Amino acid sequence: MDKKNLFCVHCGKDFIPKRRNQTYCSAKCRDRRRYKRQVDQLASTFCLQCGKDFKPVRKWQKFCSRDCQNFCNNFIEELLNIYTPPDDLE
Ligand SMILES: [Zn+2]
Ligand SMILES: [Zn+2]
Repeated sequence: MDKKNLFCVHCGKDFIPKRRNQTYCSAKCRDRRRYKRQVDQLASTFCLQCGKDFKPVRKWQKFCSRDCQNFCNNFIEELLNIYTPPDDLE
């Protein structure tokens, strides 16, 4: 059998492939790489609260940090508190 060392495309470590076409030294590297690619695919956007550029970790992320998100949540809550719906809605 021709055992040729390959280099992991993620961490660069050399390894002996167990399967043909194996490009990662371990499942961990494969998952890391896949995760990184997903993150890279997300375009950077800006925070709805402070306007700072950031890269969302999740697609629906609208704020750069938990602080900004909390601030906005509090703000919305305050608005809802100030706003009293008319009684004759029903
Ligand atoms: Zn690796
Ligand atoms: Zn922010």
